[in-house]
Amino acid sequence: MNSMEEMRTAVLIVGYGPVGAALACLLGRYNVPTIIIDKAETPFVQPRAIALDNEALRILQMAGLGDDAFPRMAIPYVKMHSPFLGEFGHVNTAGSIDGHPKLVTFAQPELEAALRRQVETLPCIKVLLGHEAVTIEDAGEAVNAILRDRGGNQTRIHSAYLIGADGAASFVRGVIGQEFVGRTYAEDWLIIDALNVPKPIDHIEFICDPKRPTPHMPAPGGRERWEFMLARGETRETMENDANVARLLRPWLTVDQLKIERRAVYRFHARCCDSFGKGRICLAGDAAHITPPFVGQGLVAGLRDAANLAWKLAAILQDRAAPGILASYDAERRPHAKAMIALAKLMGNLVMPRNAARAIAVHGAIRMIRVIPRLRRFFDDLGVKPQNRYRTGLFTPGRAARGLVRGGQVPQAWVRAADGTIIRSDGALGSSFALVGFGVDPARTLPAELLRHWIESGYGIVQFCHAGQRPRTTIPVFDDLEGVLVPKAAPVGWVAVIRPDRVVMTDGPVSDAQELVAETLRLLAGAPGTDMIKPRPRIGAAA
Ligand SMILES: Cc1cc2nc3c(=O)[nH]c(=O)nc-3n(C[C@H](O)[C@H](O)[C@H](O)COP(=O)(O)OP(=O)(O)OC[C@H]3O[C@@H](n4cnc5c(N)ncnc54)[C@H](O)[C@@H]3O)c2cc1C
Repeated sequence: MNSMEEMRTAVLIVGYGPVGAALACLLGRYNVPTIIIDKAETPFVQPRAIALDNEALRILQMAGLGDDAFPRMAIPYVKMHSPFLGEFGHVNTAGSIDGHPKLVTFAQPELEAALRRQVETLPCIKVLLGHEAVTIEDAGEAVNAILRDRGGNQTRIHSAYLIGADGAASFVRGVIGQEFVGRTYAEDWLIIDALNVPKPIDHIEFICDPKRPTPHMPAPGGRERWEFMLARGETRETMENDANVARLLRPWLTVDQLKIERRAVYRFHARCCDSFGKGRICLAGDAAHITPPFVGQGLVAGLRDAANLAWKLAAILQDRAAPGILASYDAERRPHAKAMIALAKLMGNLVMPRNAARAIAVHGAIRMIRVIPRLRRFFDDLGVKPQNRYRTGLFTPGRAARGLVRGGQVPQAWVRAADGTIIRSDGALGSSFALVGFGVDPARTLPAELLRHWIESGYGIVQFCHAGQRPRTTIPVFDDLEGVLVPKAAPVGWVAVIRPDRVVMTDGPVSDAQELVAETLRLLAGAPGTDMIKPRPRIGAAA
């Protein structure tokens, strides 16, 4: 009989896809002993995500990936074309938000390789490939999981928390009694990725032909992707064969002009479960929600999960927050994930109606609506995209300074440090909570004991000031080179507490700094819903 090896860790992540890997990078950054496992020996190399937005890139920045960690291509616009009406829709995606391009394309295997390289640099993360989680039990005081490798050997892992990042067919989802609810909107699409395309396009186009809806886009490395919707009666076998691929691509080029990298039929679904966690177990990424890719948000949503979850686990495990704060993960993330699924379904219906009459009516209406300047801006400038702002969760509700939203992301700007280095402002905030002064030093107003407690908890204090002003302070000061933070986000004399995931926790005039800090510590110590999880046992480093 094979012996059973035992291991202990603070967090066990089941699934080393991009979401599990990003979560591991973040937990590593927060110094949380973690084991990440995958039943596969190697990363999945089939065509999948191709588009990421500025929010995803900001999270990857947080996870430690530099701008050149994996190839990406900025997309200046997305256009929608009807065979009956010509171009009827146009979305501007040129430029950047929060220091990152609004929309880029990339190759998912290259991103996954970059994330894995980053994980390898983190001593507190242990990776077990070729290990499948076959039994998981939340024992109240800890989670016990049994893994099986290819040779049938078993390993038992005791962890304080377990995260199921095990994809759409998640095993962990069933363990917490969840299943995907709602209609699935199942649709089959043939995805063709090609290399060496002679004259690649520089934008994304949706060919909204009801006979054969086809999104088409370029990607780095001379790649292009076509996505062809399958009609009734068409099968994977007939669609993926050489003759059919050549026929479908003929309106653009002949197959001898390029190299077909991959072709695969995928079935897209739109589904979300009713809860992202139970007890000591949470779900992240496709395990919790899946969406058709029409707005390029499946992986992006999973990265948002990772950013939201990682610091909360770290704060609980490092005794800086009550276990109950984990309840805010579901409260904050699920409504937004559902809103993105709804947008993808809406886009699918609007952009790709199934018959000519409906297509002419819908596309004609979109074209008409865009005549009205306000509505045109709404459609063309991504106003239709749900804002990543929490309605409830771990922040102080209420009004914020003009350019800040409590429960929303603090803007990111390019800033200059005292030594002249120019960095993005998230780098100035560090990896933990930060008390930020806008043109003011908040440390001066805090009682010495509270200031010491804040600093000893590992939290930061920084000041952003008008470019060129160098106030004398005891804390790090950064010049806001373009006025994005001061005065656009908040006026001089304002302070804000920013969470490690860059969400604004609370804010107010500097005279309130003491109360804002105290309030933050109170929320962390005893957030509503603290009865969700019992106190944790002390569990040691990854074995
Ligand atoms: C054609 C296509 C196009 C897409 N386009 C976009 C896009 O443009 N933008 C975007 O944001 N998203 C897009 N997506 C979605 C995106 O690819 C997924 O959201 C993303 O891959 C999900 O990552 P994940 O880590 O949650 O899951 P996965 O990548 O599925 O990883 C799960 C991992 O868990 C492992 N695993 C499963 N069960 C176990 C177990 N019991 N024990 C151990 N390991 C286990 C698996 O081996 C796998 O490695 C697209 C998807 C498809 C199919």
